[in-house]
Amino acid sequence: MNVHDSEKMLGVLEPEGFLQTDNPRSADLIIFNTCSIRQKAEQKFYSELGRIKSYKKLNPCLKIAVAGCIAQQEGKNIFKRAPHVDFVFGPQNIRTLKHFVADGYVHVAIEENPLISVEDLPAKRSSRISAWVTIMYGCNNFCSYCVVPYTRGRERSRPSEHIVAEVCKIAEEGFREITLIGQNVNSYESDVDFPGLLCKLDRVGGVERIRFVTSHPKDLSTALIDAIKELPKICEHIHLPLQSGSTAILKMMSRRYSFEDYIEKIAALRAKIPDISITSDIIAGFPGETDEDHRLTLKALCEIEFDGIFAFKFSPRPGTKASKMQENLTEEKKSERLYEILALQDTITEKKNNALVGAIQEVLIEGPSENANGNLTGRTRSNKIVDIWADDIIKGALVDVEIIKGRRHSLEGKLVG
Ligand code: SAM
Ligand code: SF4
Repeated sequence: MNVHDSEKMLGVLEPEGFLQTDNPRSADLIIFNTCSIRQKAEQKFYSELGRIKSYKKLNPCLKIAVAGCIAQQEGKNIFKRAPHVDFVFGPQNIRTLKHFVADGYVHVAIEENPLISVEDLPAKRSSRISAWVTIMYGCNNFCSYCVVPYTRGRERSRPSEHIVAEVCKIAEEGFREITLIGQNVNSYESDVDFPGLLCKLDRVGGVERIRFVTSHPKDLSTALIDAIKELPKICEHIHLPLQSGSTAILKMMSRRYSFEDYIEKIAALRAKIPDISITSDIIAGFPGETDEDHRLTLKALCEIEFDGIFAFKFSPRPGTKASKMQENLTEEKKSERLYEILALQDTITEKKNNALVGAIQEVLIEGPSENANGNLTGRTRSNKIVDIWADDIIKGALVDVEIIKGRRHSLEGKLVG
């Protein structure tokens, strides 16, 4: 979401005459697009912000802006901590960049923006193959650990005709794949619901693949499962964050499903789409998590066999319910649990990748490979990275590949035919 917000910032700035540079020392404007989901990201940002202070001596015209969720959370307090900052704007106020660069009269822009879902900011996309498309903003779920509802505001869906128009434009520009983004795409609601939106987008010519993130398990409906199964362009992959294998912890997280509910959803997905790839998020060391709760999470990983996970140590975030809960684990203990979760999942991911050896998979070529397993890299419909050796294939090509090796975080393949 932040990557796409940065693309929107570039989309707003380009008509104002700005060009992107890889060299921050030569920049007239530096924007930090920040994340506050965990404390680590916040610490990293403040140390970077301190580091670039000296650039203002090299270029007295340099303006420094802080954007994203830390900007939203801290507002004008950022000026106290870092007086070299010129402008602070939250995720709902990207459009104010235009006024800031025009005459610098805006300094802080963090107000709720009720028009965010209809403002349709332009985006300068970094890829020419795959495009992010925002379908909704904010979140109403208030999971007890999460800062998102406080920084990104209430849930607002974009009108479906705006989304369809954007996707038609993307298709005309030659993109092959779109990823629909929202904190909880399953609760998308305009003249149509989320499966209805998928139906409309599946009919847009040109785009070959449609992905979406993130789905909340409580809102995963039979209609959505049917849409993934039946609509040809919807890829067979779902990111369905579990967070914990313990129902007691899920309750304290205010997730509004039990582990049993979650397992039922997985069974329903696999019954209709046997090859579906399922990935997830796990939080290690939530306040009150016992050895038994942790064991239940490890057991859940073995039982479900996700294709991959992102796992994080619990990080108390300001203003959230969980930040007021008594933590019972040291940082070392949380790290130990995180390590166990990641190590177990690595073996599961490797096993699942190995099981694909011999299978023919459709791969969308994204560009040159960054490792020695091939000269090109792409993704399967199930969102697995595949490296191949091939000449005369261009970025954006859809090719059939036979998987010849499964690795821990990727696959190796060879062209068929
Ligand atoms: N909306 C999505 C959902 O409900 O799953 C994802 C939101 S969040 C940007 C991505 C992931 O960050 C979450 O699924 C959760 O695992 C993790 N996360 C959020 N807050 C956290 C916190 N305070 N400490 C550790 N991990 C956190
Ligand atoms: Fe955060 Fe996702 Fe829960 Fe919303 S649904 S509060 S974004 S974890």
